[in-house]
Amino acid sequence: MIFLKGYQWPFDVRKANDSSIVDLLCAEETKKGNRVYLDFRRNPRGLENGFEALSEEAYDYLNNSNALFGTPIERLSKMNEGAIELYASHGIDLYSERLEIAVCAQHCNGGVTVDGAWQTEIEGLYAAGEAAGTFGVYRPGGSALNSTQVGSIRASEHIASRGTVIPESTDYKLPEIKYGESNVMSLMKELQHEMSCAADFDRNLGKMRELYKKVSYLADDFFNVAVISDNYEMNSLFKLYDTVLTQRSVLSAMICSGEVIGSHGSAFVDRKPAKDSEKRTTRTVTRGGVSELCNVSPLPNGELWFEKLLARSRTSKKGI
Ligand SMILES: Cc1cc2nc3c(=O)[nH]c(=O)nc-3n(C[C@H](O)[C@H](O)[C@H](O)COP(=O)(O)OP(=O)(O)OC[C@H]3O[C@@H](n4cnc5c(N)ncnc54)[C@H](O)[C@@H]3O)c2cc1C
Repeated sequence: MIFLKGYQWPFDVRKANDSSIVDLLCAEETKKGNRVYLDFRRNPRGLENGFEALSEEAYDYLNNSNALFGTPIERLSKMNEGAIELYASHGIDLYSERLEIAVCAQHCNGGVTVDGAWQTEIEGLYAAGEAAGTFGVYRPGGSALNSTQVGSIRASEHIASRGTVIPESTDYKLPEIKYGESNVMSLMKELQHEMSCAADFDRNLGKMRELYKKVSYLADDFFNVAVISDNYEMNSLFKLYDTVLTQRSVLSAMICSGEVIGSHGSAFVDRKPAKDSEKRTTRTVTRGGVSELCNVSPLPNGELWFEKLLARSRTSKKGI
């Protein structure tokens, strides 16, 4: 914070809890329509006369990395040349230009309900990774990729063991499509922008409720509101429909857990700190656009014996 002396904080930084203040500041600016850059060529204010102004953690980090010298680009070059090369391969030269940044949404910590084979409630439809609700609220660092890979392998093993399931009928009534002056792209942009403003990691309950109302109305009346100019836009139309339905479900889940639990995991709700050390025994379950809290299943302790699990895994591989 020493480097931001005189800066007018747009929020009470003490309430930021363990959310990163830099993330919050960056999100704040991009929500206003501003662009945020990292400049690796110059040291930030406060480091003109040495590194003593750094926090103990930052100082130790650089010291342990033998990088307590020079400019940011010189330090990055010492610690991780690969990062510089990666950006260079995308046409960004960190030695001569600034790097535009934004906070991205990662680890949803929620998603489609799946069983032990990562199969959803729709037979034959599987979800793994960010799309599946398997990460847990406080996913330990590094476990997202594991969960994604394990889920994908489990799903493929399950599919291989049981063969293809072809539903007898799709039972889907084709909607009547409206043609005219297309509004599909403008609606998509508007919804994406509003979702980023209300429901990114820095969530606002009031704005999420407003957006939920708008998206629910749109979902119910979608094929009357959305217009395409010709059939070439059919893909975009259904992508927008998918976006609207997903937003409605996701917003309903975010509002439900925001109202009952508040800030948790990677969600910072109304800038209020998380209630510490509260053991979570519930999960948010969403059907369509309606969410509720349900109790989690107890851990099957008796089952967690390595040899038993190994035997079970071998049996399931044989497709039994
Ligand atoms: C900066 C960052 C650092 C991370 N660090 C770690 C870490 O150290 N350890 C860890 O375990 N996890 C980490 N994660 C999380 C982890 O990377 C993700 O949880 C994981 O990659 C999710 O995999 P996925 O297949 O579900 O999604 P993704 O890898 O996001 O794959 C989704 C794919 O779908 C494509 N796609 C999207 N929309 C469409 C569409 N309409 N049509 C067709 N394709 C589409 C996308 O282009 C993308 O290729 C990190 C994530 C980020 C962003």
